[in-house]
Amino acid sequence: MFSDLKKILCVALVLFIIFLSPINVFAAVVTYRVSDFQAPTLYNSIGPNVDVLDDTVNIDALRNHLIEGFAECPEYVDISSFKIPYNATNQTAITSYIWYETPELFHVDQLGIGYNSTYITRVYASYRCTASEYETMFSDFKKNADKLLEGVKGNNYLSDVEKALILHDRIAIWCEYDYERLENGTMPDISYSAYGVLVNQFAVCMGYALAYDYLLLQAGIDSYYCSSRLLNHAWNVVYINDTPYHVDVTWDDPVYDKNGQVYHTNFLRSTNGISSTGHNSSGNIDYSTLPTDTTYDSYYWQASDTAFQLVNNELYYIDNDAKALKKINNGETTVLKSLQYIWQADVGSFWGGHYSRLAFDGKNLLYSTPGAVYSYNIQTGASEIIFEPDLTAGSYYSIYGFKFENCTLICDVYNSPNYELTTKVTNTKTLTHHVDSDWIIDNGPTTTQAGSKHKECINCGLVSQTGTIPAISVTAKTNSTINYENCYVFTDLFLCSNIFDLISVAGNTTANVTEANNVYFGTGTKINISNNGEEVSYLTVIVSGDINGDGVCNVLDANEAERFSTGAKEPTEIEIHAANGEYSTSVTPATYQALLNKALSV
Ligand SMILES: [Zn+2]
Repeated sequence: MFSDLKKILCVALVLFIIFLSPINVFAAVVTYRVSDFQAPTLYNSIGPNVDVLDDTVNIDALRNHLIEGFAECPEYVDISSFKIPYNATNQTAITSYIWYETPELFHVDQLGIGYNSTYITRVYASYRCTASEYETMFSDFKKNADKLLEGVKGNNYLSDVEKALILHDRIAIWCEYDYERLENGTMPDISYSAYGVLVNQFAVCMGYALAYDYLLLQAGIDSYYCSSRLLNHAWNVVYINDTPYHVDVTWDDPVYDKNGQVYHTNFLRSTNGISSTGHNSSGNIDYSTLPTDTTYDSYYWQASDTAFQLVNNELYYIDNDAKALKKINNGETTVLKSLQYIWQADVGSFWGGHYSRLAFDGKNLLYSTPGAVYSYNIQTGASEIIFEPDLTAGSYYSIYGFKFENCTLICDVYNSPNYELTTKVTNTKTLTHHVDSDWIIDNGPTTTQAGSKHKECINCGLVSQTGTIPAISVTAKTNSTINYENCYVFTDLFLCSNIFDLISVAGNTTANVTEANNVYFGTGTKINISNNGEEVSYLTVIVSGDINGDGVCNVLDANEAERFSTGAKEPTEIEIHAANGEYSTSVTPATYQALLNKALSV
């Protein structure tokens, strides 16, 4: 009877029988107290088995197909073209792949498999939201992911170790373990997802692992989801130069959350190494033992309990063991500032740890001490106090947690490093902290009209100051014309070696060229225009027919113009203007012909 049904109705009915619920299976919690380092207590979980798919299909093609397919929240996604043989192993592999290796699909609630006698043909799904809601949610997800990936994604200067380290730290700082709601039974399912981490900033281990997996993938680093049924817990195995290592962001993020605090004891560990931090159940290990390399099992970052900061491709961190602010570049460590502070507990006693935290506001490093938050100027090494939170709520109150987020300085103030939710909430002190840009010119001044300028926060864009720029007194010589609106000076003068052969200035206006790489001021030369000594505008020189910037129009330029006109090479905006000898938008065959004639007549 059942087999007849299956034949007749194909997959539809079977689906409801084999629907999986990841949530029930995957509830996981870390009751991990930072202060006393107790072993975690965890719920049950299973591990995925997706490797079999690698041998069967083009996994990247399948991945893209699933992500695109499920984005519209259809009843099912057809995967028959992948010809995945129907069997129990592959069935689990497909659902596991979606649960654990496609963090983008955070809106999928339940999954079912459809099949015919030979192949798995469909993946059915139910959802936590509608397709249009998912579109909005995914846009938020992507926006925050990009924020955490800033300076890391596509940065070839950084090693994969450095990228993995920064992303590990940024997740731990950004997200808080959803402990309270898990404990009282009100935690939403979304906390098991990467969306929980990136958008809600609350998640449990599965969410942390999926978010890390997603960010690593964006940064070009392979990783897979690693879980333990005995520990009822999940984390990542990350590949650095084809070598696998365990990384557990969840356990490096303390509960209760302390702002700015992140451990590095579960970062790039061998199986033995991570087992020693509590990843074993009475000595038993039931997770991937592939990571064996011990290179990083006792590495310098384990001395730091605060987030590493990336500034100009260099890493800055606080060595909490040595009590110092340090920089590390190509394995070379430099001590920048000693932070020999103590956190007093009572009369004559103090806490035996070091609780300075590190952040970066886009301009300066920020670090906390027991009583204040300081900014540290990387260029000069100078420090100054930027925030002294109120410490009068009780005796011996100090700053134990600190972070900078969304233009706010956030301090956890208490009389002990061991605080719970209520003490943390009631003792959080904040200060708005915008960081001004230099003046940004909105409209450059002309000889007759004043220009305008403003300063804005480099982090949130909030405009803090506006100003006007007095009209400037710059005029063109007879061989030139000035396009004030777009800041160009067009000229027919070849081999110009004095900008005052092109323009005249008068009154309080001055002009100079800062970078003169060539003898002649050819196309591309930037003339800075100042008013009363303050730089207010600029003019870019465009020499008619001089595409390559050597100050003259000749056959070299004609060759370039020909390539532009045939589409063999894409010209820049300046090259287009130079080729035409006037403000223009394209290089045509006629442009080339005119330029060739000019070059030959010189
Ligand atoms: Zn701001």
